[in-house]
Amino acid sequence: MSTGGDLNSYDLNRKPVDIRTHMAAPVIFHITDKALALAKRIADFSPGAEVWKFESSLVAALWAKRRAFVFIMATGIVVRTIAPLLKDKKTDPAVIVLDEKAHHVISLVGGHLGGANELAREIASRLGTEPVITTASDVNNLPSIDLWAKNNGLVIETWDTLPRVAARLMNEESLRVYSESDIALPVEFALEKDPRHADILITKKQRVEICGSCVKDQLYLRPRNLVVGIGCNSDTEASEIEDVVRTVLLEHNLSFLAIHLLATIDIKAAEPGVLEFAAKYGFPLRSFPARQLNAVRGIKKSEAVFQATGANAVAEPAALLASGSINPLVPKQKSGNVTVAVALEESEGNQPETGRQSGRLFVVGIGPGSSEHITPRARRVIEKSDIIVGYDTYLDLIPDLIAGKEIFSTGMTKEIDRCRKAVELALIGKKVSVISGGDPGIYAMAGLVFETLRSEALKFQTSGLPHSRASELQGSALSPSELSVEIVPGISALNAAASRLGAPLMHDFASISLSDRLTPWELIEKRLHAAASAGFVIVLYNPKSKGRVEHFSRAVEIIGKYRKSETPVGIVKGAMRAGEQVTISDLSGVLDHDIDMQTTVIFGNSKTFVWNGRMITPRGYESKL
Ligand code: SAH
Repeated sequence: MSTGGDLNSYDLNRKPVDIRTHMAAPVIFHITDKALALAKRIADFSPGAEVWKFESSLVAALWAKRRAFVFIMATGIVVRTIAPLLKDKKTDPAVIVLDEKAHHVISLVGGHLGGANELAREIASRLGTEPVITTASDVNNLPSIDLWAKNNGLVIETWDTLPRVAARLMNEESLRVYSESDIALPVEFALEKDPRHADILITKKQRVEICGSCVKDQLYLRPRNLVVGIGCNSDTEASEIEDVVRTVLLEHNLSFLAIHLLATIDIKAAEPGVLEFAAKYGFPLRSFPARQLNAVRGIKKSEAVFQATGANAVAEPAALLASGSINPLVPKQKSGNVTVAVALEESEGNQPETGRQSGRLFVVGIGPGSSEHITPRARRVIEKSDIIVGYDTYLDLIPDLIAGKEIFSTGMTKEIDRCRKAVELALIGKKVSVISGGDPGIYAMAGLVFETLRSEALKFQTSGLPHSRASELQGSALSPSELSVEIVPGISALNAAASRLGAPLMHDFASISLSDRLTPWELIEKRLHAAASAGFVIVLYNPKSKGRVEHFSRAVEIIGKYRKSETPVGIVKGAMRAGEQVTISDLSGVLDHDIDMQTTVIFGNSKTFVWNGRMITPRGYESKL
C-alpha cells in the first residue's frame, strides 16, 4: 500500500524492522478520506492489516474472527458500536482509537491480554506521537499481573480475586508470591515461603493450605506442567474421560488448569472420545507405540490391556514418556472405561540425577562466545545435564556452566567419536548435552547426532539387540529412534557478525562454508558462482584455515566476477568474544585484511551501502521514506 501524504513521516530510524509481526494483524476502520490516508499508512507497517470503510454491521461480523481493531474516528462511535460485542478481558480483542490527525492513539479495550497497549505504543511510535494508556499498572510503571502470567505460561484460575490483588499491588507497590515453579519474578514481587502469607500462589495443587489465617483474596496461578496419561476402551465418550480426569485430579489435590498435555498409545490417538476431550480444552495429544510404552521400566503388566493393545499398560507409561519424568505423580487409576495417570513435566526438575528409565540428549548452541548471548533455555539445559560433550574451544567459553560436571571433550576433528559417545551415554539413561558454538544446526553437531542415531537405530532393528555394549550392560531396551532429543538453538555467527556490522542481511542471503573437509571444493566453487550471480548477500563461514589459505582469495575472485569492486564486505573476527574485530572493507580491499577461522565474512549485494560506519543492505523501504 502507498503512504498517505500529509501526515507525520515514519520514524524508521527508531525501529528499523517490522517488529509488529508478532502482534495480531489489525482491521482498520475509517469514515473520512483523511482517515483513509492514515489507515493506509498504518496498514503499510502492519503485516496482514485490512482497511475497511466503517459500518457497524461489518465490525460485528468480524469481531469474533479478528484479534485487533483500529478505529480512526470519534471515540463515541466506537464505544456505541462495540458495547454490545464486549465480553470480558480474557477474550476481548485489542481495540484502538485514533483521531484522524493521529494526535492520539488510544488503547480503549483489551489493554493487557488483548495486546491493545502494546499495539497502541507501536502505532504511536511509528507515527511519532504519544499513545494514550490508562491501565493502572502501566500508568504507575508496575507490572501487569495478567500479562506477566500470560507471558510466563501461567493460567489465571481465580479471576474474581485478580482486581483486588492488582489493587494491592498499586497501593503497596509489592506483592508476595509463593511459587513451586522456577519462574522469573518482576522486582516488585517477593518470594514468600509460607503459602498462607502469599498474595499470589503459583501451584499445580488445587489448594495449598486449608487455613483460617491466609491472606484474603489469594490469586491462584497455574503452571501448565501436568501430563495426563489416558487409556480407555473403544468408543468411550469424551464426557466420561473428562469426568474421570477431573475426579482423579481432585482426589489428588491437583488443578485441572495445570494440565499441559495428554498422552496415550498410538492406536488411541484417533479415538473420538480422546480427541474430543483434547480439542475441547486445546490440550496437545502425544501418543506412543506399544513397543516404546513397554520399554518403560517398573510398570505392572495388565493382561487385558496387553491383549487389546500389545502394550503392558498405557496411561502410566504414556504419562511418563511424555513428561520425561521417572515416577508418576499419580499412578494408574481405573474407573469405568477409563484409566488415568498423572506425571509432572520433566522441566519442573523432578528427574533424579541419573535416570534409570530413558536418558535425554540435548544438542545445545551456546552462541558466538559471550555469556550474555547464551539463551536461558541453553543455560538451563546445560545446568541440568549430567554429562557435557563438546570441542574444547567451545567448552572453554562456558567454564562456570559446566563446573563439576562430567566432561567428554575432544579435538575438532573427532566429531564422530563425540557423537557416538553422547548417544551411548544418553541411551543408558544419562542426561547429555552436546555443545556447539553458535547454533547447533548450522555447520555443527545437530545433523551428525541424527545421522548417528539413524545408523544406530538401523543396527538395533536388524540385530533386535540393544545398540551398544554399554546399553547391553545396563539391559536397556530403548531403541535409538526412541531417545528423547532436543535441539536447543543458539545465536549463529551470521547473526552475531551481522549485528556488529549493522544490517547486512536485510535481504535474501546465502551462506557458504569454505571448508572442503566434507564438501568437494568444486561444489563450493559452483555454489559461490550460483549465489554471486543470483545477487544474494553472501555469508562465508570457515573462510580460512592454515591448510587452505588460497580458498578465500579464490572465493573473492569468483564473487568479483559478478559484483563491483566497491561492493561492501564486512569482516568480523571473534564476534562477541574478547578481542573482537569488526572491519568494513570492499571487494577490492578485502584480501588485505587478516582473516582466520574465527572470522565470518559478509559480502554485500548490489544495493548494500555503508553509512556511518555501518554496513546496510536495504530492505526496500527507501521509496517509502
Ligand atoms: N555452529 C556455528 C558455526 C560453526 S562453523 C554457528 O552457528 O555459528 C565455524 C565457523 O563459524 C568459523 O570458522 C567462523 O567462520 C564462524 N564463527 C563461529 N564463531 C564465530 C565468532 N564468534 N565470530 C565470527 N565468526 C564465528
